[in-house]
Amino acid sequence: MKRIALFPGSFDPFTKGHEDIVLRGLNLFDEIIIAIGYNSGKTHRYFPIDFMIEKIKHTFVNHPNISVQVYSELTAEFAKRNKARFLLRGLRNTTDFEYENSIAQVNKQLNGELESVFLITSPPFAYISSSIIREVHKYNGDISHLIPYTL
Ligand code: ADP
Repeated sequence: MKRIALFPGSFDPFTKGHEDIVLRGLNLFDEIIIAIGYNSGKTHRYFPIDFMIEKIKHTFVNHPNISVQVYSELTAEFAKRNKARFLLRGLRNTTDFEYENSIAQVNKQLNGELESVFLITSPPFAYISSSIIREVHKYNGDISHLIPYTL
C-alpha cells in the first residue's frame, strides 16, 4: 500500500521552510500532496492562489511524486478522499507545537486512520514564516532568499 502524505497549509507564500519539509518527507513517504486550504468566497490571500500553485509546481517539476491540490473542506476528509494516511507538518518552536498538538488531536478524532507526522525545522529555515515574508514584501523588501522560486 502506497504511503501517501498530505502536507496541508495556506502557503501564502510557500517558503524554503516548506520546501525543506516536503523534500525530507520524501524519505518517509511514496507520495506527497501539497494541499492548499482555500475557500474562494472566504479566504483572502496576499499571493493569488493560481500564482502560488504554478510556483509550487515549478519548484517540484523534477519530482513526479509531489503534487499540488487546493481544497476547501476538513483536512481530515480531504485526506480520506485522497487515500492519504499521513498528515505531514513542520515544527519550528513551542508555539507551533501548542497549535499542532490541538489540530492533531482533532484530526485524529475526525479520521481515526490518519497519523500526523512532524518534522522539526532545519535550523537555517527556523525563522522563516509566510507572515514575515508577506510583511517584508509589502514594503518592497527582498524576499528572494526566503522562497524556492523567483517571483
Ligand atoms: P498554516 O496555514 O497551517 O499555518 P502554513 O502555510 O503557515 O500553514 O504552514 C504549513 C506547515 O508548515 C505547518 O505545519 C507549519 O508549522 C510548517 N512550517 C511553516 N514554516 C516552516 C518553517 N520555516 N520550517 C518548518 N516548517 C514550517
